[in-house]
Amino acid sequence: MWRRQAATMTLTPAQLDAFAATQSIDPAFAAFYRFARQSGIPLYVVSDGMDAYISRILAHHGFPEAPLRTNKLILSADGRLQVEFPYYEHSCGHCANCKGYHVRHERRPGETTVFIGDGKSDLCGARAADIVFAKKQLIGLCEEENIACIPFRSFADVQRDLENRL
Ligand SMILES: [Zn+2]
Repeated sequence: MWRRQAATMTLTPAQLDAFAATQSIDPAFAAFYRFARQSGIPLYVVSDGMDAYISRILAHHGFPEAPLRTNKLILSADGRLQVEFPYYEHSCGHCANCKGYHVRHERRPGETTVFIGDGKSDLCGARAADIVFAKKQLIGLCEEENIACIPFRSFADVQRDLENRL
């Protein structure tokens, strides 16, 4: 469906930049990102959305180098869109880009994996991680499956908790 729709839509890089500039992120993410970097904790931005706007939103807020694990939206020179799902072969069958796969794939022996999320597309990631920070819809979804999660309001809460564990 997405594929068919995308073929008839056009979008320019300037339009994507303008969209990205209107999107806000958690103000505490900057400090959290620095904390992860300085602590040697690999951090990935995992989304069932598209790289073309997620990378622009992150760049707009000062994180152009944040590693992404997302679907791909390719803009051709004439403005037409093409969508690719590079991780679909690893899907659980419900996600286009299953976050559970990325948690399992990026895990190194002896490491503790931490997953931070808020919605339905985060459930597979929560199932696969050792420590889960949840807000909004994800809290209830974790409770339904008896997945232990730590409710959080902002990345400052997550940072404080992880600092205490290190
Ligand atoms: Zn999944």
